[in-house]
Amino acid sequence: MLDFLQELWKKSNFAAEITKRELKLKISTYKTTTLKPFDMDAKKVLEDLKRRFPNEPEYHQAVEEVLGTIEEEYNKHPEFDKVNLIERLCIPDRVYQFRVTWMDDKGQIQTNMGYRIQHNNAIGPYKGGIRFHSSVNLGILKFLAFEQTFKNSLTTLPMGGGKGGSDFSPRGKSNAEVMRFCQAFMLELGRHIGPDIDVPAGDIGVGGREVGYMFGMYKKLTREYSGVLTGKGLEFGGSLIRPEATGYGTVYFLRAMLKTKGDEVKGKKVLISGAGNVAQYAAEKVLQLGGIPMTMSDSNGYIYDPDGITREKLDYIMELKNVYRGRIKEYVDKYPTAKYVGDGAKPWFEKGAQIALPCATQNELNEEAAKALVANGVIAVAEGANMPSTPGAIRVFQEAKILYSPGKASNAGGVSVSGLEMSQNSERLSWTSEEVDAKLLWIMENIHENCVKYGTEADGYVNYVKGANVAGFMKVAKAMMAQGIV
Ligand code: NDP
Repeated sequence: MLDFLQELWKKSNFAAEITKRELKLKISTYKTTTLKPFDMDAKKVLEDLKRRFPNEPEYHQAVEEVLGTIEEEYNKHPEFDKVNLIERLCIPDRVYQFRVTWMDDKGQIQTNMGYRIQHNNAIGPYKGGIRFHSSVNLGILKFLAFEQTFKNSLTTLPMGGGKGGSDFSPRGKSNAEVMRFCQAFMLELGRHIGPDIDVPAGDIGVGGREVGYMFGMYKKLTREYSGVLTGKGLEFGGSLIRPEATGYGTVYFLRAMLKTKGDEVKGKKVLISGAGNVAQYAAEKVLQLGGIPMTMSDSNGYIYDPDGITREKLDYIMELKNVYRGRIKEYVDKYPTAKYVGDGAKPWFEKGAQIALPCATQNELNEEAAKALVANGVIAVAEGANMPSTPGAIRVFQEAKILYSPGKASNAGGVSVSGLEMSQNSERLSWTSEEVDAKLLWIMENIHENCVKYGTEADGYVNYVKGANVAGFMKVAKAMMAQGIV
């Protein structure tokens, strides 16, 4: 090789001065200088995003977490950098933003903002939930759509990533108001989605009721009966196990993590946050596996039941939240041995539990709470919500080497069964609960295996964040490479 290069140099004007030694030096310099530009500088990419899209801290946080863990793998593929793959993957394909106007029960006209982020469709139609909550803004939805892209990739199903929502809150609204809002929202959103384009589902504030109203308006607008939304009612194309899927999947993932330590859910006390869809079915699966849920919460505070939340008590919570749309503090009126802690308090400081399942919202578990969990003997944290742990909290869990799974891995059960709902709609068939549940279990265990494959560190500790990010990223990256610059 050296001789060949020296021969080439001899033919050039500089040939005479070049010795073998100098040439060696030039080659080593060539290696370092020409390979350098191929390195993804995660910090620079992030700074650039912050400059171009300021005031979107959740989006920056989600991107930072992913870039920090995939950098090593990315740098093994100089072909990615040549086509600026990382920026194309971080910035959404497109963002729709619109005004939603509706009439409240007093006849007054209200306006809200509506959004849909179509993040990436390299591996399938855009797919991701719709969130109705007063806190919703563009940055939060961009973080959710970004995360969704990796999560959907992990499921092995053909789904791209998207997310949408509005700063409208269904809390305290009448049924008729919720219907009018959902219809007005779909009047705008309807033109951007479709069963092979973008398939929304539920999220915070969007359950079966809201999905039903939006589906009705989409059907009317398009004169089409299609699987354009998932999370539909069973009577009109919904899948069995979809309401349960995120919570069940989170606990299936938890079980797989515990199994790596020869441990199980049975007999473990579990701190759960949230009292919505994910929290309810996480609690149900914990009970089925012999664990003991101790807490549940909403944005006002949490309840702690020293005797554990039994099946009967969980039924009460489900009725309270889903039928009467009540608040979690009402639990202590019914079960006075339990306590309620208000002022937005979180359940993470309660002692005596071995497991924590954050199932409410982003950044609900901070560094201080994480330290308390570790100090109080928690051995596993599985996220049911999206990005509930702050970066500081994640550091605490990983430094303590406890089992910790990020939402994009452990809460992927919901979108997985949404994917199965799309398959059933395309086939015009419905599968049994057993079939769907078996597929859900398989998918969750498969995601767990992939996390172990890509996330196991030299000392044997499984970094589930890294495992999920690398596994999710590689599939999307390869699909983007194959499809050219689009
Ligand atoms: P729900 O609306 O059914 O329930 C949300 C729960 O979290 C409620 O108890 C709510 O209380 C509480 N909550 C919401 N915002 C806050 C806040 N700022 N502080 C404290 N508590 C809060 O939503 P889901 O159960 O569907 O979603 C929960 C989480 O799971 C979200 O992060 C969502 O993105 C994620 N997720 C959901 C999936 C699904 O299939 N539904 C799929 C994958 C992830 P309150 O009533 O007071 O607002």
